[in-house]
Amino acid sequence: MYCTKCGATVNNEARFCTNCGATLSPATPHTVRKPARRKSHKMPLLIGAAVLVIAIVAVILSRGSGLSGTYTSESGYYSVSFDSKDECTWYQSGLNFEGSYEKSDDGYRLEIGGGGWYADTVFDAVVDDGDLIITGGTVYGERFVKQ
Ligand SMILES: [Zn+2]
Repeated sequence: MYCTKCGATVNNEARFCTNCGATLSPATPHTVRKPARRKSHKMPLLIGAAVLVIAIVAVILSRGSGLSGTYTSESGYYSVSFDSKDECTWYQSGLNFEGSYEKSDDGYRLEIGGGGWYADTVFDAVVDDGDLIITGGTVYGERFVKQ
């Protein structure tokens, strides 16, 4: 090989140039390997970040479209539980009424099916600090606390 400093021909295994005394570093495969190593090291991080972003978006989307759990009015007379993305059950006076709900412009609209004396009723509700407040319908103004 040749000395990188003076260009003299030196023994392939020499550590120092016999002509100028410069330290000779034989070409090592390390410098070639490094970029490949770095790339494989970053890939799991990129995949992890992508999975995290997808998970966050999924949580936001599922939160925006539905309610879950059971809410009971502060008076204790009424209770409503959200069974699925669009179905709910209204409890009142020991009776339960099947209903449906959907997201409205500023909250939710609940449509409770009638039974006997109880006519079909529509309630408008908003979520406030984790509680459900009825803003329209026969129980207007009631605050429902999540159980
Ligand atoms: Zn040299």
